[in-house]
Amino acid sequence: MNEAKGMKQAKIHFLGTGDAWHTGGRFHQALLLRLDAGVVLVDAGSTVCLALDRDGIGTAELDRIFITHLHGDHIAGWPFLLLRMVYRDERVRPLKISGPPGTRETFESLARLCYSDSSLWEKIAFEIIYEELPVEERSGIDCGGLLVDTFPLAHHPTSLGLVFDSGGTRIGVSGDTGWCPALERLVEASDTLIIECTTVERAGAKHLSLEEIRAHAGLFEGKRTYLVHLGAGVAEDLSREPLEGMEAASDGLVTDA
Ligand SMILES: [Zn+2]
Repeated sequence: MNEAKGMKQAKIHFLGTGDAWHTGGRFHQALLLRLDAGVVLVDAGSTVCLALDRDGIGTAELDRIFITHLHGDHIAGWPFLLLRMVYRDERVRPLKISGPPGTRETFESLARLCYSDSSLWEKIAFEIIYEELPVEERSGIDCGGLLVDTFPLAHHPTSLGLVFDSGGTRIGVSGDTGWCPALERLVEASDTLIIECTTVERAGAKHLSLEEIRAHAGLFEGKRTYLVHLGAGVAEDLSREPLEGMEAASDGLVTDA
């Protein structure tokens, strides 16, 4: 549909699809979206630089980083990414970082804690522009030409589910969450979904299980859904008993949105 409109097909590149302790050897959460409005990194887990080099991606093309919530397996790669942009890639172009309230303070203190020596801070030759988004349900937020919907989800006080609009294709990213009504609205608002699935059976209110996703399979009908944040046995269980339109993503997978 997008090509008929003369727009580029959005692409999803899964840099890391693992849970917090790298079950199955998967990398921490990070997702590269190539959208009409630019190249967006969603989350920057500790292994983000490793994944970028594995897949031959430079940081120069990154326009913006979005953060789904302020947990280490989604943000701990920032100090290394910053170091790489300063010393190796010699970035001069501004970088926008969007996330929940507290993103700026967390990113600055994380990087300063890791690298307190002053030479790094003097060498940063690009502007870092923070944009903090309220943890509220809002639609059509204009982030420099990129339209985004936000959904407060059930995981952490900063958890923001995101739906990105790229030429009419809507890509929903849950970040970490338990099952909740706002997640259902995020699913309904999206054409393509990147949803967390940490366990096979329900294991609490802060993460999703394949059991809950199977129970709500009707909600995902007609959509393409990729599961990430994969804990033990999830990918195997889904391949034994597939759900139409749904797959467990793997590190390095690149797909059209
Ligand atoms: Zn989390």
